Amino acid sequence: MRHLVSSANAGTDDTWLLIERGWNRASQLVRESQFALGNGLVGSRGVLEEIPAGCAPGTFITGVYDKLTARVSELVNLPNPFNFKFTAEGEKVGVLTMDVLEHERVLNMARGVLARRTVYQDARKRRYEYGSLRFLSMHDKNVGVMQITLTPLDEQVKELAIETRIDTSVYNRGMLTEGRKKHFRLREAGQGNGAGLLIVETLEKKFIVIYRSGFYYQIGRTKVFAEDNIFQLSLRKRQTITLTKVVHISRVPNGNDLEKAKRSSEKRFRMAFRTPCNRLLQNHVCAWEALWDRADIKIEGSSEVQRDLRFNIYHMLTSAHDDDGLSSIGARGLSGEGYRGHIFWDAEVFLLPFYTYAMPEVARSMLLYRYRRLAQAREHARANGYRGAQFPWESADTGEEETPTWAKNIDGRVTKIFTDKFEHHITADIAFTYYQYYVATGDKSFMEDYGYEVFFETARFWASRVAYDRRNNVYVIRHVIGPDEFHEDVNNNAYTNMMAKWNLVTAYEAFLRIQAEKPRVYAKLADRLALTSKEARQWKRIAARMYVNRRVGLVIEQFDGFFRKKRILPKECDKNGLPLIPKRITSRVIGKTQLVKQADVVMLLYLLSDTFSPETKRKNYEFYMDRTVHKSSLSPSTHAIMAAECGDANRAYQCFRISLRADARNLHHNTMEGVHAASLGGTWQAAVNGFAGVRVKKGTLSVDPKLPDAWDKMAFTLKWRGADIHLEVKNRSVRVDIVARSRQRVELQVFGEKRLLSPNRKYMFTDRRGKIDVHEYY
Ligand code: BGC
Repeated sequence: MRHLVSSANAGTDDTWLLIERGWNRASQLVRESQFALGNGLVGSRGVLEEIPAGCAPGTFITGVYDKLTARVSELVNLPNPFNFKFTAEGEKVGVLTMDVLEHERVLNMARGVLARRTVYQDARKRRYEYGSLRFLSMHDKNVGVMQITLTPLDEQVKELAIETRIDTSVYNRGMLTEGRKKHFRLREAGQGNGAGLLIVETLEKKFIVIYRSGFYYQIGRTKVFAEDNIFQLSLRKRQTITLTKVVHISRVPNGNDLEKAKRSSEKRFRMAFRTPCNRLLQNHVCAWEALWDRADIKIEGSSEVQRDLRFNIYHMLTSAHDDDGLSSIGARGLSGEGYRGHIFWDAEVFLLPFYTYAMPEVARSMLLYRYRRLAQAREHARANGYRGAQFPWESADTGEEETPTWAKNIDGRVTKIFTDKFEHHITADIAFTYYQYYVATGDKSFMEDYGYEVFFETARFWASRVAYDRRNNVYVIRHVIGPDEFHEDVNNNAYTNMMAKWNLVTAYEAFLRIQAEKPRVYAKLADRLALTSKEARQWKRIAARMYVNRRVGLVIEQFDGFFRKKRILPKECDKNGLPLIPKRITSRVIGKTQLVKQADVVMLLYLLSDTFSPETKRKNYEFYMDRTVHKSSLSPSTHAIMAAECGDANRAYQCFRISLRADARNLHHNTMEGVHAASLGGTWQAAVNGFAGVRVKKGTLSVDPKLPDAWDKMAFTLKWRGADIHLEVKNRSVRVDIVARSRQRVELQVFGEKRLLSPNRKYMFTDRRGKIDVHEYY
């Protein structure tokens, strides 16, 4: 019989496979995050099915949070359907209980399938070949499937005990010193008609999740539907048992009738259970293939980079979900409990560009997540003494502020944190990404229905957040934390000020536009928000008089007084190229130095790119690059993009590789808590916006390649205003193939040459020593 690992991966080349060879207990938790499966609705860590001691099973449903004793909500670790236990004549089959002779696991990223092969030897030196394959269906997101095989290689097994249940013994591991927490209780459990039912309910928020599961096994040609979770049989030497478990997991929508939800889950489970396993797999694989058609980036030049890049994209696809704003994506996606599953600016600034250009429906849903929580954002602003809407620094299901009071600092010590109190830039960031989405999709009705309201309410927030400095006749923003969290409670963080200014100006311009062009939309919003021209003019006035940060030469001071801080620069790097904070600098004194945690001014140069001259960008990039220690995994990608733009090719590639491998190589030593979502999105941006040089310049999509020397070509597709733009990018030539239903021509700028291109034709742009040749090709 062909083994599951080989059958699952037949025809897939290595650049799609993440492979574990040999059993290594120490890397177990990291592997679980890397091998996590997900379909945007459900996520499941890649634990071994026998649940060895020390592993951390994690099953998450997007949007299902609970509080219990914690002050803040966390993504609930729900019962694990992917557990499976064999006992061969009293000896438990597992990596910790038997000798492991061979072990291999392969995550097929093209198909979203995790397969395993382990050869065990028991105490009496008898060998068993074990196999598993599992997936969370991308076709029917409520369905999960697991197949297990076992073959005694040396002798018959007289008593093979088999047990598989939906494992409810799971818990959230608890941050810091909190200890384990179980966020759910059993509401109903039963067995009937060859299938199991389990209903759990979270303790405080009362989210209800229904599991249905059933399994059958085959020995030779005989197929038996199991009546129970535990049973016993015997196997002859070299006889294989194949067990197939199908599970249906559904969240009962709030307020829905439980009995109705039970009936529907029963019906849908039965349908899946009746479907041959191969067909379930086929449907799932087709859905994954369709996703990759939209999302893949092909790189010629390095197969290792190709695989790692796919690893980053794979994990964004496992978190991608379109649920009309019910949920968004947390800092670790659906792969772990890190940051309690909270949603930060990571979702918008780092992840959203990928979804906008590959799966706009997911981006839309993520933006709606914020829109649907405007009421809480308004309340948040009000409670803090401001007007309009203030988005929380950390968010979960309700949209209330969820930042915990304590966290670990760079020394690993537990310390009080103030990001909820001071890190206000997220409000402008969210408005900014509404704009980015609009520019890329051209979706006017989205703006009319949701976006303008977000613009106005966030502008309103900033108008109340600024303070007027009478002496200098400017508006200032005091007491903030910028993206660089090493410096807390500073005045006039340049990033925050300029993003706030952008927010105010953009809201003002949008106001004028809809007032003039969309009287109905205008009337509705003006009425609902009690908005007047006078208030909008005030936004413009504040923006015009927004404090401008000091500059030395062209270098922008990150916040008032930054240049006076101690000039300490990291001198050494670790083996991965990450700068090391000098030993004597502890968390207590780091705020007194010019060391920067992560892209701050550099982030500004990138986001508001049109605002800065190339020389200003270069000077600031160089100045801050020298001071940044990338203590957040989201930082290297932004530096890679700016390095590429500023012509610092070596550093661009170095930063890119750090971002690329953050989780594939556990560079930050905390991948066990889940993959870093912002780094995934940042890596995509570094490739597309950095190396392929795709940017929106004054509203026009432009391509200005700066591929690393090691790469010959990049090929990918972007969704832009209803069209699919296929790009094949080399340093001196770009092929463009626009596929669209409409005949609308697309304005594109390649190598600085602006052209209106017709859809459904192919173009080649060639840079002949500065002279740009454009022609159609067939
Ligand atoms: C970073 C934030 C980020 C958060 C979650 C922090 O360490 O400084 O910018 O939003 O992690 O990823």
